Amino acid sequence: MSRYDTVVRNGRVVLPGLDQPAEVAVGIRDGRIAAIADEIPSAEADDAIDAQGRIIFPGGVDCHFHLGIYRPIELDTASETESSLVGGATSVISYFRTGSHYMNKTGPYREILPEVLDRTRGRAHCDYGFHIAPMTTAQLDEIDWMVSEAGVTSFKYYMFYKGLNLAASSTDAAAYTMSDSYDFGHLFAMMERVALVDRQHGSRGRISLSIHCENAELIKLFIERMRDVEVPPLELYSMARPPLTERLSIHEAGVMASEAGVRVNLLHLSSADSLRAVREVRSLYPDLDVQAETTLHHLSLTYDMLENKGLGGKVNPPIRGRHDVEALWKGVADGSIQWVASDHACCLEELKQDDLWPAQPGFGGTALLYPILVSEGYHKRGLSLQRIAELVSANPARAYGLYPIKGALVVGADADLTIVDLEHERTVTPELLHSAQDHTPFSGVTVKGWPTLTMLRGRVVFRDGQLTASPSGEFLRRPLGVGRRASAGARSGGS
Ligand SMILES: [Zn+2]
Repeated sequence: MSRYDTVVRNGRVVLPGLDQPAEVAVGIRDGRIAAIADEIPSAEADDAIDAQGRIIFPGGVDCHFHLGIYRPIELDTASETESSLVGGATSVISYFRTGSHYMNKTGPYREILPEVLDRTRGRAHCDYGFHIAPMTTAQLDEIDWMVSEAGVTSFKYYMFYKGLNLAASSTDAAAYTMSDSYDFGHLFAMMERVALVDRQHGSRGRISLSIHCENAELIKLFIERMRDVEVPPLELYSMARPPLTERLSIHEAGVMASEAGVRVNLLHLSSADSLRAVREVRSLYPDLDVQAETTLHHLSLTYDMLENKGLGGKVNPPIRGRHDVEALWKGVADGSIQWVASDHACCLEELKQDDLWPAQPGFGGTALLYPILVSEGYHKRGLSLQRIAELVSANPARAYGLYPIKGALVVGADADLTIVDLEHERTVTPELLHSAQDHTPFSGVTVKGWPTLTMLRGRVVFRDGQLTASPSGEFLRRPLGVGRRASAGARSGGS
């Protein structure tokens, strides 16, 4: 009987702590990494994969995702996690909330979360977890239960929802959130609860609150001012939700979070101003744990690139101009930004159409997780492969209670990896991304550096542009920890 199920040989492996990829072999047994060594003879494994000198990254952790926001969650879970494999992500963490979209209902998470798990079970092509947004006062009482029993270690608040009747649509904020009080009082009470459970359970893994930072009242003012301005729609949209509103919200979040003592994740920074605000908040409150995220689209698209290409690129916060894109890359390079995610939301063309204000925000991008970082980061801006692995794998895994079972190629970790051909160049089309979304704002963008093989817990699930396995993604009950390792060890002990 072989020592390993699979050995991946002849690759340059991005290992934690090393400046350069290492020419080592990876031995896999029972879905986990069992050995990393200079040489593992093929004879010691049932299966050998030749990486052909390519780069082997840890499987990506796409930690900003929206399964089921505009389509039934069963459908999104199947199609959109397939898209993740294209870009080398083997774990996604999706935001879920009650209210409009998603399941269009409210109620206790004790009832709704099991329904979400039932409807997603057996359908995902990569491992998946959920961040939960407590929308109502009653749901705040469920935070402790979600952490201690339901496998949820991260929560969310949307700062701009309180003024939602602003977008020239008839949607009223209370009807949208289905909440009794979705305001700063609710946010502060949420922060206190999350801080409390972090003090009680945080030794097992980081417990945090994610915040969408945009200010509703200012957006309302700027939308009014944009009524008669004649510029292309997505540029107009950026002017209607200017970086000022992010900057203000980040400061508000900083004041409240420092008072409550809660760890925060500032989501999808889109601008130089928002990055500046993050740096200011960190220096104002040095004891506060502030993690900053940006997205693939804020790093690679500008409204100029999307001119005359419809409204597919409408997203919150908006796509900005070149100055903001370059500022975000500086933040990525100097460590001000901790991770990059896709904010993937499968939003069909029919939900966009041609009227800016009622068009639904969001679009998919998970298939570009490693490709954009390699193409725009490594090739164009000299970002190291090591830093890329931290940005899309190790850092989100650490922040969200998955490390080191996810997020690093180390002995004992899940055998989640992706083999990337750094020189392979493709022009993006919707078909290339394997998503159900029928358009993409990345269309026509040339991207250099694509996964050729993606492995989930030791199983090859995607190879040479094709899905190669039935759905085997499992729910990530966070924090992933010692308990899971011990039981996995016990399972393999008998073989
Ligand atoms: Zn989002």
